Amino acid sequence: MKLDATDLRYITSEEFRVLTAVEMGSKNHEVVPTPLIVQISSLRNGGVNKILGSLAKRNLVAKVQNSKYDGYRLTYGGYDYLAMRALSKRDSMYSVGNQIGVGKESDIYIVADSEGNEMVLKLHRLGRVSFRAIKSKRDYLGKRKSASWMYMSRLSAQKEWAFMKVLHEHGFPVPRPVDQARHCILMGFIDAYPLRQVSELPSPGKLYSTLMDLIVRFARSGLIHGDFNEFNILILRESGEPVVIDFPQMVSTSHINAEWYFNRDVECIRTFFRRRFRYESAFYPRFRTTMKEGNEDGDGFQLDVVVAASGFKKSDQKILEEYMEAVREQEGEDQDESESEEDGSEDEEDEDEEDGKDVEEHNEDVPENAKEDVSQANVDESPEESTP
Ligand code: ADP
Ligand code: MG
Repeated sequence: MKLDATDLRYITSEEFRVLTAVEMGSKNHEVVPTPLIVQISSLRNGGVNKILGSLAKRNLVAKVQNSKYDGYRLTYGGYDYLAMRALSKRDSMYSVGNQIGVGKESDIYIVADSEGNEMVLKLHRLGRVSFRAIKSKRDYLGKRKSASWMYMSRLSAQKEWAFMKVLHEHGFPVPRPVDQARHCILMGFIDAYPLRQVSELPSPGKLYSTLMDLIVRFARSGLIHGDFNEFNILILRESGEPVVIDFPQMVSTSHINAEWYFNRDVECIRTFFRRRFRYESAFYPRFRTTMKEGNEDGDGFQLDVVVAASGFKKSDQKILEEYMEAVREQEGEDQDESESEEDGSEDEEDEDEEDGKDVEEHNEDVPENAKEDVSQANVDESPEESTP
């Protein structure tokens, strides 16, 4: 999806009013009835219809004809627009450059402030992967159901923001948090490449220890990254030091499955080093020992507690967690299905390690059907079914 920053500055105040009305209306309506948009925006009726038409032409809203009523819903594009407009109004960002990543659940752009300093804009895109299937299984969204993709994407961004800030303040190697709005995060640009792209290292043991130390340091501060893998570890071009990104799935060490998450992070690194660099070590951190040793090396802060106090609510955390679990389950099922269809497909264990030709993409772990979802979402912007 193309983001157009010039457009950001040329929306009339009436158009903005109507767009905002659609956003407000979608808190309670999957398809916002046109009369409600008219009412919320409090402009003349005819005027609103015309403006809705022009917003729809620019793909900021989409017209939906329902069995019961006609209305509009906000598109990804419209939501992006509102978020970027907020960031640009606050002078946090000025222009949008190239897209540098399409993750499973995000789009990443290079952007700049008015002085041309480069930053990274991450737009969270929850609800892109098999959302319908998940929704039919779980009803944890309750009343918020109607705005679920927007709501989940925003929660994810808020969580990532809360963690990035706290980690940055406490000296962890993470990007500098700049600003957050709706489902977007603005952060410092890291001149680096993902560990995924590194095919050789002079001394793998050194990086291995640094990464394991980082896992331990996280845990002693009360945190587990939860997705500590070669995609989310960037290697600085200059120093070769690692920078960690991607925090929507972080958990506290007091989480009921903390040990499992901790072990999975540790195993990710061990497996990657074994396959990619043929490096194996008998030394790796264990959750219980790490926790027993306490926070002596740290600065004494329990960051899970600090984050909890930062305004990212426990209840929000829980909603997000359940959603992410549901996605994982769903993906597992899709995977099983496609594997049994393919019948006798090779074990893909080591397939990617020899050559680096797959490294350009960091999203090749997206299941095929999810990729389709992505392109579909870009075209018709409809991650959700309409409700009566
Ligand atoms: P996702 O949640 O979709 O995995 P990530 O936060 O991991 O999103 O970012 C996806 C990719 O975008 C990363 O692998 C990295 O290549 C790039 N990226 C993300 N943040 C930055 C940054 N601050 N600086 C440079 N590149 C980044
Ligand atoms: Mg990632």
